[in-house]
Amino acid sequence: MQITTMAPVETRADVSLLGRRERSVPRGIAHSTAIFADRAENSEVWDVEGRHYVDFAGGIGVLNTGHRHPHVMDAVHRQLAAFTHTAFQVMPYASYVELAERLNDASPINGPTKTAFFTTGAEAVENAIKIARAATGRAGVIAFTGGFHGRTLYASALTGKVMPYKDRFGPLGCPVYHLPFPVEHHGVTVEDTLAALDYLLRATIGPKDIAAIIIEPVQGEGGFYVAPPALLQALREICDQHGIVLIADEVQSGFARTGTMFAIEQSGIEPDLITTAKSLAGGFPLSGVIGRAEVMDAVEPGGLGGTYGGNPVACAAALAVLDVIAEERLLDRAHVIGERIRQAVESVRASGDVPPLSPVRGLGAMVAFEVLDDEGAPDPVRTKLITSAAAAHGLILLSCGVYSNVIRILVPLTVTDAVLAEGLARMERALAEAARV
Ligand code: PMP
Repeated sequence: MQITTMAPVETRADVSLLGRRERSVPRGIAHSTAIFADRAENSEVWDVEGRHYVDFAGGIGVLNTGHRHPHVMDAVHRQLAAFTHTAFQVMPYASYVELAERLNDASPINGPTKTAFFTTGAEAVENAIKIARAATGRAGVIAFTGGFHGRTLYASALTGKVMPYKDRFGPLGCPVYHLPFPVEHHGVTVEDTLAALDYLLRATIGPKDIAAIIIEPVQGEGGFYVAPPALLQALREICDQHGIVLIADEVQSGFARTGTMFAIEQSGIEPDLITTAKSLAGGFPLSGVIGRAEVMDAVEPGGLGGTYGGNPVACAAALAVLDVIAEERLLDRAHVIGERIRQAVESVRASGDVPPLSPVRGLGAMVAFEVLDDEGAPDPVRTKLITSAAAAHGLILLSCGVYSNVIRILVPLTVTDAVLAEGLARMERALAEAARV
């Protein structure tokens, strides 16, 4: 198999930009396509040569409300004309407070809640851990294999995949303990995970030394595996029993992607803290930690924050994103989009004209499928062929997964029926092409 045969045809503009990029940007920052973006609108992107792409990546789940949503752009323009920065810790502003109020109301946590804003997903995760440590006076944190929580040092420690996220960075903030994430077809059941937790708490670290358990209600980078409600319910009970803070990392699964504002709502339990970022501000850098007021207030004044955290332009964008989600009924739309994708993939899967694929899995419009070899094992080589072929056919498509063989779809929830159908047709062509190689 030759991976290069189906790479998108690089034009002179791409080639020269690529050369400049390779000379000026370190290789540690990878890019999944060699396509240089020029402009974008809702779920479509044009490159520097004017070629058209349907965007099934949404900037890695950042664009649930699409590229440059008109309401978001209006709000941003108004804020740009007023002020762009004061630092909330120096001169606070109303939009930060209003956004905190609206997220507290939208959160699935009963009782008083508070929200603090930061800039990136990893920063939200780091701060959630700091808050949990301050609230409990403990240091241990439990995370899951296949989980992804960011690239800062401590977030890398929490992340449950070595290559490329933890390779050769030396000791990452400790103590962090990973439990196997239950995925039945990887041979791990909920009972296995809970038995591993029981062993961990008996053999390695006592529950009274654990500050927090952090889990993605739907694993993102790890492969779009839904955390079974039975696991989340058991974790809730164990956290209640031992005074451990339960953190739902909703950086990728949140903000309407799964058909509810936060994916954890579908599990029947309440976390103590929620981390949010990505689609929160419709393309502007903003993250937050939402949580029970008494836990959030464990940190002394000045212990949380950051120069840019809760930037006013990003807060204005996020307030507009909340309006768009409500006005355009994007929670319902997520279910419709998820179902269309599911039907399209299931019908090509049944046709036999594509490589062996797993059934489609996920929640709402956070859906994915695995690419398998003839023996049913993960096939990362063919997966790369598919994403390359997709780019050649005008579709931005991402892979993920511990075995790098999962195709995930994060199309904007504002996508029109016509563009969604065009994107699915392009994906089918890419899948069929990969079957012939
Ligand atoms: N948590 C989850 C669940 C994520 O998916 C990501 C990003 N993919 C992060 C944290 C880190 O976010 P950021 O890249 O904004 O730091």
